[in-house]
Amino acid sequence: MLNIILFGPPGAGKGTQSQQLKEKYNLTYLSTGDILREEMAAETEIGRKVKDIISKGGLVSDEIVVSIIRGRVEANQKSAGFLFDGFPRTVRQAEMLDGIMKEFSLKINRVLSLEVPEEILINRMIERGKTSGRADDNIDSIKHRFVEYDEKTKPVLAYYEKQGNLKGINGVGQIQDIFAALCAEIDKIQ
Ligand code: ADP
Repeated sequence: MLNIILFGPPGAGKGTQSQQLKEKYNLTYLSTGDILREEMAAETEIGRKVKDIISKGGLVSDEIVVSIIRGRVEANQKSAGFLFDGFPRTVRQAEMLDGIMKEFSLKINRVLSLEVPEEILINRMIERGKTSGRADDNIDSIKHRFVEYDEKTKPVLAYYEKQGNLKGINGVGQIQDIFAALCAEIDKIQ
């Protein structure tokens, strides 16, 4: 099984790259952002709970996202592997993901971290906001997402660095070139 975490700040291109990676390696794609947006669209209990916090650019509680992920991992144990996008976003989530992996006798093979300078990210997200229809792609929420990223998500990098699992990838350039760099790293695994 090939289990990959695609890590990076908001707007780094995780979603774009994930679409190609999941196809190429036949992975079960788990984007907590996408799943939470589906829950909101379907107006489920979870969707109603997370709506305000997401639109303001805050992080949803660890318990909610971890229980979603655990359910999806349990349901897809026969898959060729998992591609995690936007999860884990706190050190606690990373620790709990390790617990889930252990529970199902799996392991994370690599954490690929897309590196993009903040000025470029903010511009990309403002552009995306013109067409995405996402309530959180406005300047105030974007700023808050970066504060959350710096405070709560960046420390996740050190967590995986310590495990020797982290690999930085330059996220600036042509989509195809970045994809090739990600694939080159994945192909080294085993
Ligand atoms: P982006 O990477 O562009 O910020 P995502 O689609 O990954 O967007 O996430 C959108 C929002 O969903 C986040 O700002 C946050 O409110 C919520 N969210 C997604 N994943 C998580 C997570 N693992 N933990 C907490 N909140 C999350």
